Amino acid sequence: MKYLFKNANLVHENQVVDLYTEDNQVFISKSNGNEKQYDQVIDLEGRIVIRGFSDTHMHLDKALIGEKVINHSGTLDEAIKIMTKYKPEMTDQDIEERMKRVIDWAYENGTRFLRTNIDIDKGIQLRSFKIIQKLKEQYKDTMIIESIAFPQEGFLDEEENFKLLEQALKEGADVLGGIPAFDHDPQKHLSRLMELAVKYDVDLDAHIDETDDPNVLTIKDLINLTRKHHYEGRVTAAHCCSLAANFSEIVDPILEDVKKLNINIVPLPSTNLYLQGRQDVKNIRRGIAPIKKMMHDFGINVAIGSDNVRDPFNCFGNANPLETALIAAHGAHMGATQDFKGLFDAVSVNGMKIMKQDYHINQSKFFVVVDSKDPRDAIISQSKVFGFYESGKFVKD
Ligand SMILES: [Zn+2]
Repeated sequence: MKYLFKNANLVHENQVVDLYTEDNQVFISKSNGNEKQYDQVIDLEGRIVIRGFSDTHMHLDKALIGEKVINHSGTLDEAIKIMTKYKPEMTDQDIEERMKRVIDWAYENGTRFLRTNIDIDKGIQLRSFKIIQKLKEQYKDTMIIESIAFPQEGFLDEEENFKLLEQALKEGADVLGGIPAFDHDPQKHLSRLMELAVKYDVDLDAHIDETDDPNVLTIKDLINLTRKHHYEGRVTAAHCCSLAANFSEIVDPILEDVKKLNINIVPLPSTNLYLQGRQDVKNIRRGIAPIKKMMHDFGINVAIGSDNVRDPFNCFGNANPLETALIAAHGAHMGATQDFKGLFDAVSVNGMKIMKQDYHINQSKFFVVVDSKDPRDAIISQSKVFGFYESGKFVKD
């Protein structure tokens, strides 16, 4: 089937073009050509075309257990404690079904690039990891999924946890995760992980400073390690909430280093708004890293993600990138045209850059059409997917 798609709005490349397909591949049309040579001509009327949305920070292994495992205090501490207890009780079938449900939601919402943390520790062993590896293969023609081997329970007091992380890397985990705040020596936690990442030649994507405490700035250790190991462009810092609790004199030099070392930052607006500020009795903080400053003033690659979907860490979530972008717009005071453009990038190309994926439509094998003509409207209206091209066919939603 040969298609001609007229008036496709490639927002990231700032142009409205015609696209045609040949041998199940998409190309930008250089001339109008003869419409008769195509089996089908579809006028997209200026709708946004992207390769897909990206959601680069999820926890599919925990998703959808929020109704069973209740977090009464609503704090991060309680969430981690009750999860540790509950985790070994999860059956493989239950894990797989929940993961699939959320992957399917993400797919329906236009996500084609998904990176998920997977807990690895002596409680759950490699069970969830093996399931995501299987699903990754099952979905490979429709979605690019990456697994992060994530030490949610720490490893400095439990060497077996570290060994299991290494085992996951040997068995094909795409990325190494981290959570320095959970171990008694955050610097040591990070430096051991960085050495492991280098040994297996994988990127590091760690939970950093998920706290309102302005004195916790582990991001500086991450910066030092990135420099020491020459890991520029291969490190991602998720959360970074404490940056929002500090003045510019502290934050700006950090962000300069982040930019210089090409470290990606991934704020998680829904979870941050829900979990942070819990100790504040007035002027309750939002806890979202300064997205606008990082994006516009420092040119840092900022992506945003769902994080937890309906679990003890965050009772909300629909695996919908445009919903995440809207929450970020509210939470980070972003309402200007360039803010919406930035947030749209944060749920599409910026995440793809983190996953080292080509975001250009030309020569791609799939794309998603968003039922909107510009990022501001797409985010505010919560636009749906208009249709998508995949496996040589265009499917209209
Ligand atoms: Zn997370």
